[in-house]
Amino acid sequence: MNPAVLKLELMAYGIRPGEGLFQPLANPFGLVHLTLPEKLAVSIHLQERSPYSLHNRNNRFFLEKNGETIPVQWTPPLKAYEKKTSSGLAIKEILTVHGGLIAVHPKGPCRFGLSGLSCRYCGSTKALNEHPPFTKKDLVEAIEMVLEEKRCDFVNLSSGRVTSDDGGVEWLTPWVVELRKHLHILISLDLALPRSLEWIDKTYAIGVDALYYDLDFFNPDETRPATFQEQRDLHWKALEQAAKIFPAGAVLSHLVIGFEPLEETQKRIDLLIGKGVVPILVYFPPLDGSPLSSRWKITPQEIQGLYARLFEKLTQTGLNPHWVQQRDVILTPLEGRFLSDQPARYPLALQNFYETSLGRIVTLGLASLRRHLRVREVPAP
Ligand code: SF4
Repeated sequence: MNPAVLKLELMAYGIRPGEGLFQPLANPFGLVHLTLPEKLAVSIHLQERSPYSLHNRNNRFFLEKNGETIPVQWTPPLKAYEKKTSSGLAIKEILTVHGGLIAVHPKGPCRFGLSGLSCRYCGSTKALNEHPPFTKKDLVEAIEMVLEEKRCDFVNLSSGRVTSDDGGVEWLTPWVVELRKHLHILISLDLALPRSLEWIDKTYAIGVDALYYDLDFFNPDETRPATFQEQRDLHWKALEQAAKIFPAGAVLSHLVIGFEPLEETQKRIDLLIGKGVVPILVYFPPLDGSPLSSRWKITPQEIQGLYARLFEKLTQTGLNPHWVQQRDVILTPLEGRFLSDQPARYPLALQNFYETSLGRIVTLGLASLRRHLRVREVPAP
């Protein structure tokens, strides 16, 4: 079976637990981490009605669907989740790890959480609401504990729900400064649209390596505001400016599949790439029983062309695929190669290099050298 199709189907339908599995099977947020054929990582929810079940026989894990079996690898949840910081906070209440990316929501749930989709970035929004607040010291300690257990090259901080003109970067600045002081790691931010372009320069200057500026809103019930077009024009300008300042491939934007006709999503892919921005297609079908599940119907089959198109367009650019790190929760632009006839030799070789220890040193070294050369004035935090 095509591994990209398998990954999309698992993201859509989840898995049922079968025989011989270990406990805990899932991470604290209910996600089971698997590696599919061709080394595609995926984190999946448990769903009783899924056609796929997961089994373990003699330490060989496999998926089963209609009598067909597919070998997979299972990764147990990180032990670090169960550890505590010196102030007594559990690590699982502070962060989530996706492959080489540590996802943190210091300000609580984001606006995407209102959509009702089964977002997998930082567990469930409900669980986040119940998390206690934590300090910068807690976060640094928590990240250090994760790094003792596994290599992670990125920390991503989300701005949460923001309405301020800066898009959330001002509030996050002291967090970035604190991480920079203690950790040698790449930092990305998930931000709302800033009203003034100077915030983009400031974001780079404080030590941010990559950023996500997402388009529009995600709630299908929300009415488009009268200023929608004006906001969108501003958004495009912000994305263009960010792509000039940040390294090639380090400005990204999520595109949520399923809230607009697929042709519209297709157009946005082309527009974003034309502006030097890497689109991240987000396919998070609603969980069983959620109000959205009865009317949200986009199937894995319908969206395969979008991923092929994204891969093909990206390979025509010099945008580096390495900045996409949350590979277990999305089908990445590079993984779209399994849905296309176009070869992926160069971008794949580039990504494989960055996965090595030497690649890590080069990435971190280049990131700080580039900032040193480009930033003349660093604003006080
Ligand atoms: S990124 Fe996803 S899981 Fe995290 S707060 Fe937003 S909606 Fe919730």
